[in-house]
Amino acid sequence: MQNYDTIIIGTGHNGLVCATYLAKNGQCVLILEALDSVGGLAATKEFHPGFKASVAHIVSHFSQKVADDLNLASHGFNVASAPLSTVGLNPNGDPVVLTGNEVTGVSKEDQTSYSEYRQFMQRFTQLLEPFWLKTIPRIGNNSIPALMTFA
Ligand SMILES: Cc1cc2nc3c(=O)[nH]c(=O)nc-3n(C[C@H](O)[C@H](O)[C@H](O)COP(=O)(O)OP(=O)(O)OC[C@H]3O[C@@H](n4cnc5c(N)ncnc54)[C@H](O)[C@@H]3O)c2cc1C
Repeated sequence: MQNYDTIIIGTGHNGLVCATYLAKNGQCVLILEALDSVGGLAATKEFHPGFKASVAHIVSHFSQKVADDLNLASHGFNVASAPLSTVGLNPNGDPVVLTGNEVTGVSKEDQTSYSEYRQFMQRFTQLLEPFWLKTIPRIGNNSIPALMTFA
C-alpha cells in the first residue's frame, strides 16, 4: 500500500489549493472526493440544458497571490470583472436582486438597511484584510506568544 504525507478529503477549491501547494513542496498528497467531479461548490454545473452556473458564482475573494503562485490563468482560471448579481426568484412578484451594495425587489426601508449593512461589513473586511494570508496561531496549548499573536 502506498504511503502519503497528507490526505485531503474533498476537492472543493480549498482542498485543491492545499493539495497543490503541498505537492509543489514535495509532499505526496492523496485527495479524495465523494462525487464524480472536482471543484466542490465552485465547479460550474449545467442545471438545465444549455444553462451553466456554479453555486459560488462570485469568486471575488479568491486570492490573487494563490492564482499567481499556482499559475491558474494558464489553466483557464478567469474571474468575472464586473460584480455579478445574485437573484432570488419570487413566484409572487419581483425577484430580489443583490448587486454590490444595492438591492431591488424589496421595500425602500430594506434597501437602505441593506446598503448600510454592507457598508458596515466592508469596514470589517478592511480591518481583516491584512490577516487574509496569515497562518492562524494555535491557541489550544495556552502558549503566551501564540495568544499574543492571536490577539
Ligand atoms: C448557496 C451558496 C452560495 C454561495 N455563493 C458564493 C459566492 O457567490 N461566492 C463565494 O466566494 N462563495 C460562495 N459560497 C461559499 C462557497 O461555496 C464556499 O466558501 C466554498 O465552496 C468552500 O470551498 P471548500 O473547498 O472549502 O468546500 P466545498 O466547495 O464545499 O467542497 C467540498 C468538497 O468536499 C467533498 N466532500 C465533502 N465530504 C466528503 C467526504 N466525506 N468524502 C469525500 N468528499 C467529500 C464535497 O463533495 C465537495 O466536492 C456560497 C455557498 C453557498 C452554500
